[in-house]
Amino acid sequence: MTDTQKYNCQEPAVQARELTRVFKQGNQTITALDGIDLTIHQGDFVAVMGASGSGKSTLLHLIAGLIRPTSGQVVVEGNDLGSLSDRRLTLYRRRRVGLVFQNYNLIPHLTTEENILLPLRADGASIQEGRDKRHVLWERLGLTTFLNQMPDTLSGGQQQRVAMARALSMEPAILLADEPTGNLDSVNSRKICEVFDELNRQDGRTITLVTHEPGVAIFAKRVIVLHDGRLLADWQTSQFRDAHDLAATYQELAAQTDEEQGAKLP
Ligand code: ADP
Ligand code: MG
Repeated sequence: MTDTQKYNCQEPAVQARELTRVFKQGNQTITALDGIDLTIHQGDFVAVMGASGSGKSTLLHLIAGLIRPTSGQVVVEGNDLGSLSDRRLTLYRRRRVGLVFQNYNLIPHLTTEENILLPLRADGASIQEGRDKRHVLWERLGLTTFLNQMPDTLSGGQQQRVAMARALSMEPAILLADEPTGNLDSVNSRKICEVFDELNRQDGRTITLVTHEPGVAIFAKRVIVLHDGRLLADWQTSQFRDAHDLAATYQELAAQTDEEQGAKLP
């Protein structure tokens, strides 16, 4: 059975078709993404790996509607983002994607609860509505005891859980996270990974996160590897024994690619 047959009852969360993004810097052009074809199904959990500069953040920003494709398409829940007007793209960003960053991006002068409710408030919901709707999620994320605290009184791991609650407050089609554990120690990093895992397995959330750590990527169901803006590998994590096995396969691929590129040099 092909992937399309298996999922034809449900629209994919994200479909990228020959997705390309070029940046111009002075008289230089940089092809950050180079014709990517990728389908992310609803309920999928994808880790994006690849060296620095390989296009990971660009891919996330295109799915998030923060930037537009230079060519090709990125379709989310049937909407071709490149063809949306600026106004509809703004609404899409606000309502259909949840974004989590390495440095949490909480607003320092707002409490935890105010931070979490910000997207709902911006979209016109009342505070009470937000509280009623999201309390179960806040409990799951372990946030209920510090809802009135300011972000700078929280640990990094706690701040990232607040950022995740905020990102999920609009029930997005997809939760996108760019190196969400990059600033955390290994204990907090693991805790955050367990939350992602739970959100995916128990709530069926569709998640795509960027990481360079095999120990984080192994929590996903699927790992894709980017190299120079191209898709180099697409693995199911079930094929790996553990994070070390994934790390070894990843290193092997990286070495092989370096060798091939070396061979092309004059
Ligand atoms: P990664 O997240 O994998 O480190 P990025 O997607 O940030 O990679 O970047 C891919 C390539 O595109 C890099 O060469 C980077 O310098 C370039 N790039 C990304 N964003 C911009 C931008 N706004 N302007 C110019 N170049 C950019
Ligand atoms: Mg990046």
